[in-house]
Amino acid sequence: MMAAIAAAENGAQVTIYEKNERIGKKILATGNGKCNFSNRDFDTEYYYGTYKDKLPQIFEQFSVHDAVSFFYNAGMLSKERGGYLYPLSEQASTVLDIFRLRLKKLGVKLELQAEVKYILRSDKDGMFTVVTEGKKERFHSVVLACGGCAAPKTGSDGSGYRLAESMGHHLIDTVPALVQLRCKEDFFRIAAGVRCDALLKLGADISPIQEERGEVQFTDYGISGIPVFQFSRTAAYLLKEKKEVPVYIDFFPDYGEEEYETMCRMRFGSREGKSIEELLIGMANKKINMVMIKLMGLNPTEDAERIEKDRLRKLLYLYRKLSVHVTGTNSFENAQVSAGGVDMREVTLQMESALVPGLFFAGEILDVDGRCGGYNLQWAWTSGYIAGKSAAM
Ligand SMILES: Cc1cc2nc3c(=O)[nH]c(=O)nc-3n(C[C@H](O)[C@H](O)[C@H](O)COP(=O)(O)OP(=O)(O)OC[C@H]3O[C@@H](n4cnc5c(N)ncnc54)[C@H](O)[C@@H]3O)c2cc1C
Repeated sequence: MMAAIAAAENGAQVTIYEKNERIGKKILATGNGKCNFSNRDFDTEYYYGTYKDKLPQIFEQFSVHDAVSFFYNAGMLSKERGGYLYPLSEQASTVLDIFRLRLKKLGVKLELQAEVKYILRSDKDGMFTVVTEGKKERFHSVVLACGGCAAPKTGSDGSGYRLAESMGHHLIDTVPALVQLRCKEDFFRIAAGVRCDALLKLGADISPIQEERGEVQFTDYGISGIPVFQFSRTAAYLLKEKKEVPVYIDFFPDYGEEEYETMCRMRFGSREGKSIEELLIGMANKKINMVMIKLMGLNPTEDAERIEKDRLRKLLYLYRKLSVHVTGTNSFENAQVSAGGVDMREVTLQMESALVPGLFFAGEILDVDGRCGGYNLQWAWTSGYIAGKSAAM
């Protein structure tokens, strides 16, 4: 939609082909229905991809500021929460309405329920033939903005990758990202439903590959929540390489070593007349306390005074370093984005194919994915704007 607007604003006659019965279906699901459309705290370091060295020059052409101005000029006011940008209405439908209005004003033609099956380029005149069920149409240029294969119910089922490949492009392996992680341990059935602040370290406790702080959610099969989403793509690629993926959870991220030790000593000193379960009251959510007791092979009703000091100490220190082992991610159905996609080495700074002149790319179909926080939509706006504008030249 952004590409179509930018192209039409630059004088092109544009047609959008959309396989769904309506355009922009995924936008309605974003940000829990509120659409976190960008983020004031911006850095290209918040993006991933195998060859992402072009990103600073790409975002220079259409920045967060440009996105906010684009929506403002089209009538949408925004609000900010800790850098996260939302429409003031807090309705994702506002963002979609803004696009629909602008597309209508610019006379962009919509072909709905029109899945593109093939795109053929004539060697004679360089024109593209876009083939849908029972229909063919010719164009000077094409922008492929089919998304990846995350949330396929919204339309992005990976068919864009096949179209790109059919035109000679190469793909970086795709994996689900911003997604829940499934873990090996059987204590998740006890912990299911707990949400708490924690520090999560991926790969190792000391020198982890990635470290994230935030609200972790325990499910009956593993871990979820924003900190988990943030390193899910790293975990997914490690799993693809058949590597071990441990995650270490610290339930006391604000405690220094000394402070924690003092708290443990106090708790140890107050163990008289208490069961193990009672001794742990106030440490964490009751379900987490039960997990710790189970992991130490203790009985919750056991007299705390009768447990050796070392064992109690181990129990209390489990809260600083609970290790879980990731066995998989949830599927693309549950993922917010796809990591991987069209190789960025084959795409110019104008988002044009370096292999097929006149073919452009935008959005998630490319091997660029961002952290949770509005960065993926910002990528869609930025790459879409540049692709549309360049395609119209
Ligand atoms: C639940 C959920 C919540 C999210 N929340 C946020 C958020 O708050 N902030 C954020 O930044 N990002 C969020 N994202 C990610 C963000 O929505 C996507 O990265 C972004 O929409 C990608 O835009 P796109 O245009 O590349 O692809 P898409 O939005 O997937 O659009 C691609 C379109 O192409 C159509 N299409 C595909 N193949 C064909 C074909 N062959 N022929 C015709 N049409 C085709 C599809 O039907 C679809 O409408 C969220 C994603 C999900 C699933």
